[in-house]
Amino acid sequence: MVETACPLDCPDACSLAVTVQHGKVITIDGSRKNPVTDGYICAKVRKFGERVYGPDRLLHPAIRKGRKGEGKFGRVPWEEAIERIASRFEAAKAKHGGASILPFSYGGSNGLLTQDNIDAQLWRRFGTSRLARTVCAAPTGAANMALYGKMPSITYQDYPEAKLIILWGVNPSASGIHLVPFVREAQKRGAQLVVVDPRTTALARSADVHLAVNPGTDVVAALAIHRYLFTSGRADGEFLRAHAVGADRLRERAEPWTFERAADVAGVEAAALERVAELYASASPALVRCGWGLERNRNGGNAAMAVLALPAVAGKFGVRGGGYSMSNSASWNIDRTWIDAPEPDTRLVNMNHLGRALTEYDDPPVDVLFVYNCNPAVTVPDQRRVLRGLEREDLFTVVFEQVMTDTALYADVLLPATTFLEGYDFAKAYGPINLDLGRPVVEPAGEARSNADVFGALCTRLGLLRDDEPTGELDLMLHVLDRLPASIGDDLRGGALPAPPFGTAPIQFVDVFPNTPDRKVDLFPAALEASAPMGLYRFQADPRSDRYPLALISPASDRTISSTLGELPRPDVKLLMHPADAEARRLADHDQVRVFNELGEVQCTLNVAPSIRPGTVSLPKGIWRRSTRNNTTGTALVPDTLTDLGGGACFNDARVEVASLPNA
Ligand code: SF4
Repeated sequence: MVETACPLDCPDACSLAVTVQHGKVITIDGSRKNPVTDGYICAKVRKFGERVYGPDRLLHPAIRKGRKGEGKFGRVPWEEAIERIASRFEAAKAKHGGASILPFSYGGSNGLLTQDNIDAQLWRRFGTSRLARTVCAAPTGAANMALYGKMPSITYQDYPEAKLIILWGVNPSASGIHLVPFVREAQKRGAQLVVVDPRTTALARSADVHLAVNPGTDVVAALAIHRYLFTSGRADGEFLRAHAVGADRLRERAEPWTFERAADVAGVEAAALERVAELYASASPALVRCGWGLERNRNGGNAAMAVLALPAVAGKFGVRGGGYSMSNSASWNIDRTWIDAPEPDTRLVNMNHLGRALTEYDDPPVDVLFVYNCNPAVTVPDQRRVLRGLEREDLFTVVFEQVMTDTALYADVLLPATTFLEGYDFAKAYGPINLDLGRPVVEPAGEARSNADVFGALCTRLGLLRDDEPTGELDLMLHVLDRLPASIGDDLRGGALPAPPFGTAPIQFVDVFPNTPDRKVDLFPAALEASAPMGLYRFQADPRSDRYPLALISPASDRTISSTLGELPRPDVKLLMHPADAEARRLADHDQVRVFNELGEVQCTLNVAPSIRPGTVSLPKGIWRRSTRNNTTGTALVPDTLTDLGGGACFNDARVEVASLPNA
């Protein structure tokens, strides 16, 4: 049994116990070393061995031999692959400047070594375009930063202390599964549960109140609760005077949102909304878990603002189990000072605009695209335009990947990457406050190399590294370990789980406080008021039309982590639709259907069930093109419009129609 840690993009960062025989991974399970992991893990990572040894695994560097997208490649030595890439970098820089090179990455691993490390040094020192990594968590991150300076939040262990839990736009049964037992424990102890989600998830089924809001309307539901708190005298004036600024402006913006008006827009019962407000005002400790489902629309930033502001207005801080729970990614205060390269003032490309960048940008054009930790052909909006860009014959695309993804098929040079089971990394949780050191449990498959090794080799070839800087993974791991706060480094070296100075389960406003300049909650940050299209706490109307009346959402599933593991065989991908919507279209369960709008079409099987609200349909996030009949995914239907705050993706603003697929 070998101990390691999971650095994938999941809140939990499990500690793992891996059985290895004859140098091969046999089973992957949870370790008991980490009390949150508690000896079990998700079904996704249990199957990770199928990725490591599967037929899609990339084993050698290769160059394109066929048409882009065709997937024909010829093997080359590593030295040749690195030389080809470095020469194209130099040629592109000489012709159009460094900004004509676009590095593209996101969350294939959240490990400290695999992203924003030697890769960041390479991009900064070479002066490439910069990437705004906004496909997920940008609006909630902007809201959390402005309100609280990303104060550490309630961790899983304290959920059982709460008397009321509101799960807002989050489904831990599919992602971040280790939260579920803590919610169940709280329920056993008598806590009430509110779930805000357009779908009747497993937790929604056991909730005391389920608000199945229209996608994109969370902001008005939260504002109605604020209005109630202010007008009924349930706002905590004492707390607001001592610890917050901007409450009056928030109150003004909440004023128009009566329960009736908000309920009408959100498509829920006014009485249900009022009940949630009353429960929230009365219960203590009460906690709000702000997820990421509520941010993926035109009002997403303001929704996160309004939800995260609730505990300040209602005075829910200062007790164990009270306050808010969100990403704890900033809790360790690791500022990566080991990256000794200032960020240049080069072009900033929003990753949700990849399709535009590849097909429209001309000052300078994108001549070179370098994709790693990411599969944008199926994960970013406006798939048709992204694929059109990837097809450009004059674009030189490098894909550095573990398996032959939908994006890798378009590579000019393909580089095989190690998985987390084949290298070192630091796994940092963003649900619990955990940090663990992942170690290699098996040798890399074929000629796969780590990010540190490959970016180190490119930096060396381009003359961008100093002699005293690490160039390989082991060196980099030791270099980072030495630069973490001493007690953290010592614990990790000894195989223990470290804790930050305030512990792994802080009480907000007792152990931790806002990291804002005046240490107060800023309920009406001026910078965000100026940057949001209609200002703070405002609602932008639904983009649905008579032609495309259904809201399409694409929530996380229990099969993939974003699109990671999407290559594994899976049952038919299904579009979930409410029976009333199916009947109106004369559709039945198991029908073959087309889901379409002006951007594209997805052909798949229909699943008719009452577990989604009428007017909303759902396709799983992270599916690969092979999973549907016509090789497109839900992203083909998603506009590349941006959220009101943070420049995030508006996945849930896709409006579609569904019809039977003729001759299916
Ligand atoms: S994906 Fe999440 S639940 Fe699964 S093993 Fe990794 S950290 Fe644990």
